Amino acid sequence: MQADSIGERVVIVRGSGSTVWDAAGRELLDATGGGLWHSHVGHGRRELADAAARQIAELEYFTTFQEFSTDKTIALATRLAGLAPDDLNKVFFTSGGSDSVETAVKAARLYHRRRGEPDRTWIISRDFGFHGAGYGAGTLTGFELMQAGVGPNLPDVVKVSPPYAYRAAELYGEREPTDFLIAELEETIARIGPGRIAAMVGEPVMGGGGVLTPPDDYWPRVREVLSRHGILLVADEVITAFGRTGSWFESAARGMKPDIITTAKGLTSGYFSLGAVLMRDEIGEVICRETGFFHGYTFSGHPVGSAVALANLDIIEREDLVAGAFPMGDRFRAGLAALADVSTVGDVRVVGAAAAVEMVRDRRTREPMPFPEVFALTARIRDEHGIIVRPYAHNIIMAPPLVMTGDEVGRTTAAVVEVLAGSG
Ligand code: PLP
Repeated sequence: MQADSIGERVVIVRGSGSTVWDAAGRELLDATGGGLWHSHVGHGRRELADAAARQIAELEYFTTFQEFSTDKTIALATRLAGLAPDDLNKVFFTSGGSDSVETAVKAARLYHRRRGEPDRTWIISRDFGFHGAGYGAGTLTGFELMQAGVGPNLPDVVKVSPPYAYRAAELYGEREPTDFLIAELEETIARIGPGRIAAMVGEPVMGGGGVLTPPDDYWPRVREVLSRHGILLVADEVITAFGRTGSWFESAARGMKPDIITTAKGLTSGYFSLGAVLMRDEIGEVICRETGFFHGYTFSGHPVGSAVALANLDIIEREDLVAGAFPMGDRFRAGLAALADVSTVGDVRVVGAAAAVEMVRDRRTREPMPFPEVFALTARIRDEHGIIVRPYAHNIIMAPPLVMTGDEVGRTTAAVVEVLAGSG
């Protein structure tokens, strides 16, 4: 959408591996995983097209509401339960990430209500967190522009500070970051009242916020606080699940021990719009009591999406793409190291196959570079070097297909370095 106000669209018509072609026949290297961090297996995979075509021929769709389901939906739920950490075995399918987050919020509130705590309605999320664009998920999102001018938003949402090492001095003053963040969380819970809070929602590693990695002790300590107050923890893994950051579920790698995990994006690598919410067995059982979980989307558990997701997971497993995110991260780190001397680059962060370059006007004040300037730089990287990277707020994001080759990563980082080096 943003492009409309800034210039003409680049119309993409074809893709293969990490390469796409536009309508004018120009070849572009896609360092964004289809634009939104979601293409794990890369473009143009025949196997996924075949899986979709076979399923459409067999059964294009039937609802998964009430007593119905489809064989592919059940097979995918079983597969996800097998991959998920601990006892997160109950799976609810959605049409995408925002739907998954809203489903998690409803499930958390309903869980408390059915267990006799109807006052637990509040949700804690974080500044710079990204959780989606609808009224529910959009209110949890910590970017003001998302909901500006379209309120009133979802009530009973409170934001806390994110772990953000580069801006630690601004955000936490002299305090040790995790100590500050835990104290702030405790104060927020005390202010609202522990008995009124249903859940906290957070990305294990914040994607849209600019690939923000928490200190190692952050999630274990957050988990301890929440457990002490009976508050559920929702890990929003819409970006991180299925290999983006080098694990099947990043929440497990970060010691989050979540009660609910939300997913989408890499579940199908973008070949179908599908999301999945994984819940602890007990949560699934409680919300299905009485009248059941009266919630769902027409295309929840879509059999074509499920068939595509199964084939996508086959490829991720067979090609060992989850483990491959680490060497790719090393290549990004090495290639972007040359940005250390560039005056408009504040920070470079890489986690697995996700990287962010934080752009500033001034390294001393750390004033963020305005978005149009960041956008102009990414347009130059594309038009002068044939490489697509993504501007988001004041960050330049790279999150390529997990199949991107070492040579392609090298071309990407070389182009970014060349354009940014001249941006001071
Ligand atoms: N959660 C996270 C962490 C995301 O990054 C996004 C989208 O980027 C969403 C939720 C929303 O997903 P969707 O755009 O599929 O609704």
